[in-house]
Amino acid sequence: LEWLYSYMIRLRLPGGFLTSEQWIGLNEVAKEHSTGTIKITTRQTIQLHGILKSHLRPTIQEFNLQHLDSIAACGDVNRNVTCTSNPSESPLHQEVYELAGKISEMCLPKTKAYYDIWIDDELLIDRKAEEDPLYQDRYLPRKLKIGIAIPPNNDVDVFINDIALIAIIENNKVIGYNIAAGGGLGATHGNEATYPRLASLLGFVDTEEKALKAVYEIITVQRDFGNRSDRKLSRLKYTIDKLGIDSYRKEVEKRTGFAFEAAKEFKFEQRKDRYGWVQNHEGKWFYTVFVEHGRVLDIEEYPLKSGLLKIAETGKVNFRFTCNQNLLLADIQEEDKEHIESLLKAFGISDATDNASALRKNSVACVALNTCSLALAEAQRYLPSLVTKIEPVLEKYGLLQDDITIRMTGCPNGCGRSPNAEIGFVGTAYGKYNLHIGGDRLGLRLNTKFKENIGESEILATLDELFGIYVKEKETEETFGDFSYRYLQTIK
Ligand code: SF4
Repeated sequence: LEWLYSYMIRLRLPGGFLTSEQWIGLNEVAKEHSTGTIKITTRQTIQLHGILKSHLRPTIQEFNLQHLDSIAACGDVNRNVTCTSNPSESPLHQEVYELAGKISEMCLPKTKAYYDIWIDDELLIDRKAEEDPLYQDRYLPRKLKIGIAIPPNNDVDVFINDIALIAIIENNKVIGYNIAAGGGLGATHGNEATYPRLASLLGFVDTEEKALKAVYEIITVQRDFGNRSDRKLSRLKYTIDKLGIDSYRKEVEKRTGFAFEAAKEFKFEQRKDRYGWVQNHEGKWFYTVFVEHGRVLDIEEYPLKSGLLKIAETGKVNFRFTCNQNLLLADIQEEDKEHIESLLKAFGISDATDNASALRKNSVACVALNTCSLALAEAQRYLPSLVTKIEPVLEKYGLLQDDITIRMTGCPNGCGRSPNAEIGFVGTAYGKYNLHIGGDRLGLRLNTKFKENIGESEILATLDELFGIYVKEKETEETFGDFSYRYLQTIK
């Protein structure tokens, strides 16, 4: 007998978009082949867990019928390209969303082996004839992540990406992109050579064509100069720190044939999702559903999955995903809004969205135990109950409606982006976490380890003390993250 292997499948969804038909198809696949839970990831896509080996091909084949694939959603290649999720943020959203798709296409491995292996039994292509100028014969030293933000919203957490593009908008036109490189939040416990890092600005390019070329050549420099002898030190951030940002930029410019201009000014004003209803410039409606840690499932008191399926069955909505693990019901016409609103109410979805505290709405957690083999501690299964215990502490200090970001990961790999939260937990062992504070609210500054390897009672006591000092000593409009950063300097 063979081992009872089970797998996770993640979709490639640049910009995080599904039609209602695809959402219905996804529900079917999840029911037939996985645990049934649909997980919205921190990279604006979907993953399914618990797929038995014998179900892999049927799962991928059924996705294929829905025009969905999982190519390069994992591995040492460019991963899912993220993009500001809410079209109501800007009339230019469509243009930027399409760029996410173009980058994803440009960076796809050229081999068609995926289709040979998973879709057809026959060898479709002469392997020798397949050439891949980007990945050549060696792919990248490690995974690579790309995100695009449209200021003033940094909901994609753009600087955590290996390559970050910031759309620069003047007179309602995208006049180009600032491009940064070298972000990545992973580290390894006990290995001082590893660290989280935010991307450094390389400069500005004034056309989409140049943005695509710059992205391409940033990748080829990493392909050629990245560390291939130590996987722990193989992300682009280490290559940049080894070469120096100026040398990296020069090498990219040599390959693109043009120089970056000085980066343009931009300002992020928020990183959170806009929950509830908003309308875009075309009059279409969008409703952002709060999905705690991206877990779409039915529980007795909250049939979220059934409610979303019912909404999809109207055929009147599209589905978009956010990097904060939430879901937008998108492109709703004025005449359909009331019906969708009644379904949101009937399934308790609008109540769950309205009634969650600000801390809960600003919480992110990775999957961790029991599905991630790298996890040292719980994250998505534990953070909700920890937040429930932190809420009364916040209430005591009048902070319940503060938009404090809180994030938890089950190991230091950073999938739940703890290193740039105002309160970040990194799992060290079952029930134990490093507590980090001092990250800013907008995703522009990393946090710092404050307490090591602590359990729940010490977490709650520490936060109680910190919130108490914060309300006493904060400056006007000072966020918890900014205060904590200042506080850390005073106790050094
Ligand atoms: Fe990522 Fe670690 Fe969380 Fe697993 S436990 S999902 S590797 S951060």
